[in-house]
Amino acid sequence: MKKLALHWKIIIGMILGIIFGFIMNSIDGGKGFVADWIAPFGKIFINLLKLIAVPLILASLIKGVADLKDISKIKSMGLRTISIYIGTTLIAIIIGLSIVNLVKPGDGMSKETIEKIKLKYADDAGVVDKLTKASNQKSAGPLQALVDIFPSNIFKSFVNASMLQVIFFALFVGICLLLIEEKKASPLINFFDSLNEVVMKMVDLIMLFAPYAVFALLANVIIAFDDTEILLKLVQYALCVVFGLALMIGFYLVLINSYTKKSPLWFLKQISPAQLLAFSTSSSAATLPVTMERVEEHLGVDKEVSGFVLPVGATVNMDGTSLYQGIAAVFIMQVIWPEGLTFTNQLVIVATALLASIGSAAVPSAGMVMLVIVLESIGFPEELLPIGLALIFAVDRPLDMCRTVVNVTGDATVSMLVAKSLGKLNEPNPKNWDDNYEEVK
Ligand code: ASP
Repeated sequence: MKKLALHWKIIIGMILGIIFGFIMNSIDGGKGFVADWIAPFGKIFINLLKLIAVPLILASLIKGVADLKDISKIKSMGLRTISIYIGTTLIAIIIGLSIVNLVKPGDGMSKETIEKIKLKYADDAGVVDKLTKASNQKSAGPLQALVDIFPSNIFKSFVNASMLQVIFFALFVGICLLLIEEKKASPLINFFDSLNEVVMKMVDLIMLFAPYAVFALLANVIIAFDDTEILLKLVQYALCVVFGLALMIGFYLVLINSYTKKSPLWFLKQISPAQLLAFSTSSSAATLPVTMERVEEHLGVDKEVSGFVLPVGATVNMDGTSLYQGIAAVFIMQVIWPEGLTFTNQLVIVATALLASIGSAAVPSAGMVMLVIVLESIGFPEELLPIGLALIFAVDRPLDMCRTVVNVTGDATVSMLVAKSLGKLNEPNPKNWDDNYEEVK
């Protein structure tokens, strides 16, 4: 396997994991074997990625801001990033709503199928868990999300990996480094520069393990599928989401090509390991270290841009999630609450799906929790909520995998656009894990 490019190794790992999962699904005791002996390796991999996320954000953002040498540049980078993020998310929701209204995947679902899905999933622990999480989220005041950005104890933010709080702290430190004498600032800047290099090297080393980890992750996903009959009933809805997500990727490629003049294929090739990991882990947060490594070293985006745009994007920019929320909300209405399908309600969905995607955590199935809030905002009857979630629950995991790919690709695209607009798009300079190995082995 030595000479194969990383993304091919990961793809092979994924395919073998899927095949292995199906084989284990059909063998007595196979599921238990995967859960006990295979899945833990996927977990170790995700733990390692999460382990380095906080130091990585901290180091690259502090160093990046301090390197900008100019506070007005931070403002213009911030404004550009947030406006492009909002713009792409709105486009994603509009694409989603257009598809679901044209295709109408919810029409024609038989009463029997609805009843069957209701029986199987409405009381399922997964559905109940999403509803509880959503009601916790809702009970907070309207400005709670803003309050949550400002930590009172930064160590708590590190421990909880609260990304926005860590980003705020790093920006604060970076700006203050700019405001003090250079002589006094440089030891700390050098420290974070060095920390950044170390963490990037950790990404290279962790990625050596990626092909085996995705094998474990996908085998574990496959053993969770048991009712293929229900899956088939939902295929039209699932295809709508997948088609919308594919359109979104196409839209990014057009943006990249027209604004940065880089070839779409080149972009996809460079970013593909991050996309494949997003698919396998269903978490933009876990993928973040790899996204940062690919964007900085392989796409040539300067650290000062990627250090800001990517961590912020992983938390607030979820185009895939918002597209999915638009489709899922309307699909559920088509099936069990057709009277709610008004134009005004769809406009409300645009606004709430935008906010919901900002508020969704970058972890598996967070989008489904926020979907509850989108549905509530249009007055969806509360007693129908468990049935609504039950309807889409069976296919949620595969769709989560796909939408996470779009979330990560969207962040990478915006970082390229912002870098280009600030003259911070350089020649790529990929590093290997063993660049200095000869000297120390
Ligand atoms: N899993 C997605 C992410 O991490 C969020 C979601 O749509 O559930 O980006």
